[in-house]
Amino acid sequence: MPTQRCAIYVRISVAQEASVSLDRQIEAAEQYAAARGWQVVATFRDDGVSATHNKPEDRAGWRALLDSPEKFDAVLVWKIDRLARRVLDFLHADESLQARGAGIVAVEDPVDMTTAQGRAFATLLAVFGEMEAESIRARVKAARTHLLRSGRVVGGTVPYGWRSVLNPDGAGYVLAKDPDRLDYVRGMVDRTVAGHSIYSTVQWLNEVGAPTPTGKGAWVYSTVERILRHPVLAGMTPFNPGNSTKTRGTEVLRDADGLPVVDESVAVVSVGQWRAMVKSLDERNTAQALPRALRAKTSGLLSGLVYCAGCEVRMHRGTTQGRPGYACPSCHQSVTNFEHVVVDEFLRQKGEHVRWSVVEEVYEGGATLLPEIEHRLDELDDLIRQAPNRDTRQSLQVEQGNLLDLRDEKRAESPSVRLVPTRGTQTFGEDWADAETVVDQRAVLDDAVTRLWVRRGSRGRRTDAQLLARLTFDWKDPGTLGPVDAPSDAALAAWAEEG
Ligand SMILES: [Zn+2]
Repeated sequence: MPTQRCAIYVRISVAQEASVSLDRQIEAAEQYAAARGWQVVATFRDDGVSATHNKPEDRAGWRALLDSPEKFDAVLVWKIDRLARRVLDFLHADESLQARGAGIVAVEDPVDMTTAQGRAFATLLAVFGEMEAESIRARVKAARTHLLRSGRVVGGTVPYGWRSVLNPDGAGYVLAKDPDRLDYVRGMVDRTVAGHSIYSTVQWLNEVGAPTPTGKGAWVYSTVERILRHPVLAGMTPFNPGNSTKTRGTEVLRDADGLPVVDESVAVVSVGQWRAMVKSLDERNTAQALPRALRAKTSGLLSGLVYCAGCEVRMHRGTTQGRPGYACPSCHQSVTNFEHVVVDEFLRQKGEHVRWSVVEEVYEGGATLLPEIEHRLDELDDLIRQAPNRDTRQSLQVEQGNLLDLRDEKRAESPSVRLVPTRGTQTFGEDWADAETVVDQRAVLDDAVTRLWVRRGSRGRRTDAQLLARLTFDWKDPGTLGPVDAPSDAALAAWAEEG
């Protein structure tokens, strides 16, 4: 194949616009030509000419290029907007070049009009370019709405195993697999599907030296479990607007038909495989999944609720020196004969309160977007710092400005809190008294407590007060559980109707 001959075309609208100076455009084009083994036969320039107000054929430099006796197969431009900002202008310029047997090639944009596929794609890009010239604000707004709804980058911090990259198909950033970490995620999934325990996977990760999400410290149980339960594994996006609890909600972004929005390009397992794995994790956490030796002796009232405050892992039910209790699988601290202390404290703090099982923060109307807006603002802070160049940074800053305006608007519509009573005006204490089995008791407890954290205590016999001092209760929404304001019959009837 003979060496391709090319011409370079550069343009600048304002002479002092340093970031895209003519020299820099020429330099970039020359480097590009050299890299592809092309021969530069001529360079044409338009200095101080706006692309919005001047069609290419009205510019001296471009006319000189079209009239040039030099033979060339391609015209190199730095970016496509150097040539035209309107689709029609771009297509006209391309038509004139085609008549000479040449095509436009852009250095910074993926535009190559010397091939059929490149032509189709470039036409699309030109459409976006025109939108940009017309109204950057409208474009950014559309991109933001798209990002918020596309279920890709917006909706939380970037999960382990993935990273945020420039969107190849438009504005903003999208999720992509992180090749440095994804193998560890695959390893976690494979091990779990094969029936290995999370503890053994924690050990494996530490042994092979897998980097932790923060890059510091060792792997712990809760981190691995959180990664395995993340819907991104199946290409889905967590979407829990208005979630006011500390624990992650389990809902995912859904389309108009209520089906999960799945991005196959980021998934490592199918939705079905992921759900099956999560279900198996749920089952492992129940008492039945524990080894038989650990199951004996304790009632199971607190099973799965007891966590080691030092290691942040669930403690196992079992016996320590003949006494029933819970032991930390990691640091081996144990707590025994303490159920009655937990129950007393629960009844003391919550017994007189009406038992609520659902406490939800409901965002009305546009305020549903607030959590997403906050997430995106957090991300933009980082992205602006990491922006590879001024254009990217400016576009991100425009997005940030718009988003801050939008947040002001949405904040005016404040969220309302909705409480749903479990059993009319029954209090926790009354329901506890009515509970006939351990399972019934546990159901009452579950409406008040999320987790029970246990700190290491001193050796030897302890008083109840010493035991209590080792415990921290994660109450469910302590601010709204009481005091005893029984809902009116009318309110109860209204709730019942709402279902
Ligand atoms: Zn521990």
